Amino acid sequence: MTALVVAMDGPSGSGKSSASRGVARALGLRYLDTGAMYRAMTWWMLEHGVDITDPAAIADRAAEPELVIAVDPDAPGITVDGVDVSAPIRTQEVTSVVSAVSAVPEVRARLVAQQRDIIGEGDIVVEGRDIGTVVAPGAPVKIYLTASPEARARRRTAELTGTTVETQQADMARRDALDSTRKADPLVMAADAVELDTTELNLEEVISEVLRLVKERT
Ligand code: C5P
Repeated sequence: MTALVVAMDGPSGSGKSSASRGVARALGLRYLDTGAMYRAMTWWMLEHGVDITDPAAIADRAAEPELVIAVDPDAPGITVDGVDVSAPIRTQEVTSVVSAVSAVPEVRARLVAQQRDIIGEGDIVVEGRDIGTVVAPGAPVKIYLTASPEARARRRTAELTGTTVETQQADMARRDALDSTRKADPLVMAADAVELDTTELNLEEVISEVLRLVKERT
């Protein structure tokens, strides 16, 4: 039997994290937050004084950090070289430069390989930008979540520390542009994904719509 992989892609603030965790919980599946892995890689680069504006410098050190990510939707968390970075990866300092780090092909190659290993262990809900297109193109269920820029900025601000809605909206527009135009694995909707606009939906409605799609496609 092939594993049930639910690919949840979309820009930040589209409601991916809460919905993905809710779906994993409802179906008793594991949950993987791939954005947390790019954030952890970014945290490590900053911590080690790597010049974030220099892709070659980032590429040189991309093999060094050891990431361990939890896949329990009720207890997500991530460590780098044994340090719990679950909180620091959500700061504005990391958020503002994560797109530069995640655009580096060596970073992506390493993290995509690790993500595929985790996915290969069995049924799972995976959230990110390139899950349906690159990481797990064979996933039986692919959802692409969207929402208006205002709704996304509001949600993202509530998840982060030390920021405002205005800062987030500007930052998200910048990150979207970088994430969608980068050469390596850009943010695009998979041809066989179902687009779900969450602007007018509450969390329960998003989760039940995804559960309906999972049922329909499996
Ligand atoms: O989802 P989140 O906002 O935490 O992701 C942070 C950043 O990580 C994104 O802006 C993007 O640059 C990068 N990312 C990525 N591919 C993924 C998940 C996240 O490039 N699959």
